[in-house]
Amino acid sequence: MSAISVEKLQWKEKPLYVPSLSEMVTALSTGLSENFAEVSVEEVECPDLTAAPFHLASSGLSGSATIVDVGGPPFLLPLVDRTKIYDLVDIAHKVLPNAKDVYLCGAGAGPHPLIGSNCEGIFNLKVNEDGSVVNETHIARVTPGDELCDTQKVPHNETKFALMANLYVSEGQKGKVLHVKCKKRLRADNFITACQNAVKRAFADKHVGVGGVFILKNGNAHQHVMRDFSKIPLHTNEDVNNWLKFYEMPGILIALGTFVSDDMDLDLRLQHFHSFSKSNWGGHYHYDTTPNTIEYEAYFNVGQRIIRIDPPVVTHQVGRD
Ligand SMILES: [Zn+2]
Repeated sequence: MSAISVEKLQWKEKPLYVPSLSEMVTALSTGLSENFAEVSVEEVECPDLTAAPFHLASSGLSGSATIVDVGGPPFLLPLVDRTKIYDLVDIAHKVLPNAKDVYLCGAGAGPHPLIGSNCEGIFNLKVNEDGSVVNETHIARVTPGDELCDTQKVPHNETKFALMANLYVSEGQKGKVLHVKCKKRLRADNFITACQNAVKRAFADKHVGVGGVFILKNGNAHQHVMRDFSKIPLHTNEDVNNWLKFYEMPGILIALGTFVSDDMDLDLRLQHFHSFSKSNWGGHYHYDTTPNTIEYEAYFNVGQRIIRIDPPVVTHQVGRD
């Protein structure tokens, strides 16, 4: 099944408020200190994020930073729309048409035609100027029968995804970024919710979007993987949670995605991170289950604008946790 050309998809774009990184340092360190026993937030020159433990397809997160939200849960629920197939390279070229290289990372639904089954997508792709790609995207699925979590790196030329994605898009250059480290969680909020609340509190009604990577280590995470598409309609969050398969996954997990401070009347997914690992775990991050030992380390950057692609015409709020 081929992807729908991005030229045929509805496209909305809005500027984001872009706080300086030093304002972000203040906002995040203030907010996160209420949630974690140890917090360090700094503005740093980005290290080479292609190296372990991050394993990104591009070394940096800078250059024309853009938050992109494609499709949404209404294409999955109550019943799947299998025609919603998109292409990351197509989106990369449309979002940053003048960039030399484009790096995309984030969370969404993997390309079900690839494996004949629904799956999670952990997108991690660099599109070079000459059209070649560095493809570090992983998918995670629930195995039929024994229902284990199984992940794989997609084939090099597989750049499609399905239904929905929340992507951080940039030129993948080295540059100044936010380096966030937190240890020992004190409150119920997950790491990303804590970051999101910190940003909301600092910048009030201004619209801020953030993306990048975080590592979860020295503990475990409650994460889900979507089972294959439901044949019966899923109408409520309870239906969805019974259909999803939840696992407690051990760190180190490498999570990619975005969060925004509010919906901006764009029908956005407000936070969405998917993780992969070097030990066959992967899925949708909800929260860690080991507050006393947990450690997070993130590299984030701030988006300059938000692009909403193919928003569902008939929308709902089911399945957005
Ligand atoms: Zn997800």
